[in-house]
Amino acid sequence: MQYAMVIDLNRCVGCHACAVACKAEWSVPTAYGRNWVKRLGPANTPSGLSKTYYPGLCNHCDTPACVPVCPADTINRKFRDPTTGRTITMEVAATYKDPFTGIVLIDRERCIGCGACVEACPYGARYLDEEADDPRSDKCTFCAERTEAGLEPACVQTCLSRARIFGSLDDPKSEVSKYIKKGAERLESDAVKIGPNVYYFGNSKDMHLLKSTCTPTTMPEASLLGKRAFLAKLGKSLATGTGIAGMLGMAGMTISDSEENT
Ligand code: SF4
Repeated sequence: MQYAMVIDLNRCVGCHACAVACKAEWSVPTAYGRNWVKRLGPANTPSGLSKTYYPGLCNHCDTPACVPVCPADTINRKFRDPTTGRTITMEVAATYKDPFTGIVLIDRERCIGCGACVEACPYGARYLDEEADDPRSDKCTFCAERTEAGLEPACVQTCLSRARIFGSLDDPKSEVSKYIKKGAERLESDAVKIGPNVYYFGNSKDMHLLKSTCTPTTMPEASLLGKRAFLAKLGKSLATGTGIAGMLGMAGMTISDSEENT
């Protein structure tokens, strides 16, 4: 199964109730957001003047750029199919994609706060609270705990105009599947094709404005990410006095290399 969200721009009135509900549900610091509503336009498009909104969140991508850059040690994690109850165990780092729901999650206990995943996301969907004593990566989870209990995500439940629609892509009768049949689109470009599972639906001028201003066109620089992740993990290893040789190996160094350089 893959959970997905559709945002109907014809219905969104830009009230920010979704963003406020999310902050309240997950105690998100004021300066950050697990979701957002950006105002676009007014601007001319080939179909006429447009003024619309970009309600955004983590896209729970098919091949998430944020997952492989996580440098945290891997563990075996058990996943349970909410439909059949079947379980499987997979080796994952601190951020991973649930194989049964398609939701991309963060194990905040194991996150080392290096920010690699934050920088890797081409949609800017993650944040690190730099003011916190021990910052950990955070982002939308499609309200996994709520959906597991049969509830809608907080943003969906709060949206008065029902502009946010949540459901399974595997169910052809779900509202999200019907919207996709009607032409709902992903914000994807040739350079950024990682299968986002948030879709947008609207008239041609609003969709043109949204797609031309909010579609990511470059993947973030991977080399910077590895370096930052390495430094963060090395700092932690030094503090605990463990895993130094492994850390140096991760950076393509050996102990003698490092000694020669000092
Ligand atoms: Fe990861 Fe960003 Fe995709 Fe969310 S939108 S799964 S944070 S790459």
